[in-house]
Amino acid sequence: SKTAGGNGVRFFEPQMQTKLEARRTLEAELRSALDNGELVLFYQPIYSLRTLTICGFEALLRWRHPERGMIPPADFIPIAEATGLIVPIGEWVIRQACADAVLWPDHIRIAVNLSALQFTKSDLLQTIAAALASTGLSPTRLELEVTESVLLRDDESTIAILHQLRALGHRIALDDFGTGYSSLSYLRSFPFDKIKIDQSFVREMAGRADCASIVNAVAGLAQDLGIGTTAEGVETEEQVQQLVRAGCTEVQGYRFGRPGPAPSVAQYFTNQDRP
Ligand code: C2E
Ligand code: CA
Ligand code: CA
Ligand code: CA
Repeated sequence: SKTAGGNGVRFFEPQMQTKLEARRTLEAELRSALDNGELVLFYQPIYSLRTLTICGFEALLRWRHPERGMIPPADFIPIAEATGLIVPIGEWVIRQACADAVLWPDHIRIAVNLSALQFTKSDLLQTIAAALASTGLSPTRLELEVTESVLLRDDESTIAILHQLRALGHRIALDDFGTGYSSLSYLRSFPFDKIKIDQSFVREMAGRADCASIVNAVAGLAQDLGIGTTAEGVETEEQVQQLVRAGCTEVQGYRFGRPGPAPSVAQYFTNQDRP
């Protein structure tokens, strides 16, 4: 409180203490969340812009906290990363996503987000192989999304794992493209199958010419490289039309469907038409 007066240390101490305690509590709770079945996967549809039919879903993690309700990943993934809990959590995500997706039509893919730690602190290839073996899902149906952080250290072994995953038939997508510092260099260090254009560009596209230019340039670059582009965070019909003109190949966003629990996915298969 302000009563602590001019003493900077005493002013910040109680606040920092509370923050630290809150974080420790959340950390302890996250440790048991996995065992207690509190983690769930939501699925968001991805549509082909060419055919306007559904081509896959992205798995997005949620924490159904018994007291706090649904906690978004932004509030607990940083903790999971800092504590290493992202490794067992990420393994569960892979297994659960494969188990859910194997029940979907054969042409529907499932995209899973991977953290850098899963490459360096676990046997990712073994985890994925085991999930595919136990569910019977084809590797061509499991797409893996990585951000630049996975390639940050330009780690030889990470690149080698990505190459092996690709050789096994998985597609690898570069997520959140354009939000890092040197996105273009990552396209040189690994041959991605797909670029996901970050929603910050898509959101500003209609009002800002520079954002529209960036989206056009990325879609054109991807075309030249012979790979696909998924625009994220597509909310309006105007954005859809702009993305068609830009030559984007896939779209994802509230305009096409919000992330929902596994049972909600069935609705997309009964009606293949665009929402
Ligand atoms: P992301 O991979 O970029 O996922 C897309 C995010 O955009 C999701 O947020 C999704 O709900 C949101 N989104 C989709 N369409 C729209 C739209 O039209 N408008 C707006 N405003 N937002 C939209 P979410 O589910 O909160 O996930 C946030 C981030 O958490 C993800 O960003 C991803 O980086 C991370 N994450 C989620 N699940 C996992 C996971 O299983 N493992 C790891 N390592 N990270 C995950
Ligand atoms: Ca993603
Ligand atoms: Ca993204
Ligand atoms: Ca993002």
